[in-house]
Amino acid sequence: MHRLIALLFTLVISVPALGQTTWIRAGGVVDVESGTLLENQVIRIDDERISAMGADLQIPRGAEVIDLSSSVVMPGLIEAHTHLALSTQQRRDFGRFFITNVIETTGYRAIQGVTNARSLLEHGFTSIRDLGNSGNYGDLDLKHAIEHGWIPGPDMQTVGRIIAPFGGQFQLQPEHPELVAPEYLVADTQDEILKGIHQNLHYGADLIKIVVDDFAYQYTVDDLRFAVEAVNRAGTKVAMHVTTFQGARNAVEAGAASLEHAWQLDDATLELMVQQGTFLVGTDFPSYYAGYFAGYDESLAQKLYDERIERLRRAYEAGVQIAFGADVTDQKDGYTRGSLTISFISSFADAGVTPADLLRIMTINGARLMGWEDDKGTVAVGKHADLIAFDGNPLEDPDILLNVDFVMKRGDVYKQDGRFVWEVPSVIEATE
Ligand SMILES: [Zn+2]
Repeated sequence: MHRLIALLFTLVISVPALGQTTWIRAGGVVDVESGTLLENQVIRIDDERISAMGADLQIPRGAEVIDLSSSVVMPGLIEAHTHLALSTQQRRDFGRFFITNVIETTGYRAIQGVTNARSLLEHGFTSIRDLGNSGNYGDLDLKHAIEHGWIPGPDMQTVGRIIAPFGGQFQLQPEHPELVAPEYLVADTQDEILKGIHQNLHYGADLIKIVVDDFAYQYTVDDLRFAVEAVNRAGTKVAMHVTTFQGARNAVEAGAASLEHAWQLDDATLELMVQQGTFLVGTDFPSYYAGYFAGYDESLAQKLYDERIERLRRAYEAGVQIAFGADVTDQKDGYTRGSLTISFISSFADAGVTPADLLRIMTINGARLMGWEDDKGTVAVGKHADLIAFDGNPLEDPDILLNVDFVMKRGDVYKQDGRFVWEVPSVIEATE
């Protein structure tokens, strides 16, 4: 009964938004599937979806029109590996990461996530997969706050707590094994894995993340297949963090939807990824960033960067499906979360990825990985009006992506003429 009342209330207060039509006059629209520019397009948006598009569409007199006639429009970007509620200081080591959950509450981290969510949206990311390290389900609170309009941010998928063998991704000491929580759900047996999956899904996680191989004791193919089957039965997918050849192989054989990082990938595993449609979310960083991961040793940084780019190039040339994910968790002077994240596109150019493929990687591929291809990833009739626009054509110069002028998500404008225009709403829907 309570749900019914909440539903009725939602319907009643939603009424004023229904029937809203907006028109966009676009100088060009990027068709990411064909990698071409459609010139002089008119887009009609009803509520949150595109209802018509074409060069000959007539805009009725007196209609609300957004003039992007000197801009190029493309689908909103998709960031498939981020951590809104983790904001470490950039330092020589990951020391702060290991103590984040000791010195910062989930509430404080969720508040950091508010700023990070807004920043990603401001830089053109209209959808994200948040892959955990969010304290005690802070990612779910962020998602709900965005959905209900309390804060501006991208549409989100969340993992809740990351499932991992003993230790999670921390180096614990015997007097404080509890410090692994709440960052990780420790699961060493299949029973514990199942329990972790159920816990996450119960609290509302959209997908499951498993850390496969951070320690010498890795999950076996059997363990991972068991997890994938349980998660698939519940209608969703598993993202697997892997860093070793064997971990990557096990994850692909078990049916992971995506490999996260996968620094080590042999050609046989790449071939299997192509056969099975496994996505690579390589989280490859720009060259200027490599020092952070290499203890600021310059020659080591160059070697590290070259290895990563070589792996990305091999995956790209093998025809593996790639989605964009920067995995930014730290703060860097002069950058926001959004500007730092979008700066990671340079690694794709260095790996020989064409601009058209980069745009696919950042839109339609991410939408497919998220299972959101019916709603997102292209500018097409029936899809969400998640649109961004630039003064220039990113098919010709991908660096155009660094400077987005206009951001619309589900028909609502968040950035116009380079300015963030979201305002605190006067009325916010009651939460069910
Ligand atoms: Zn990550």
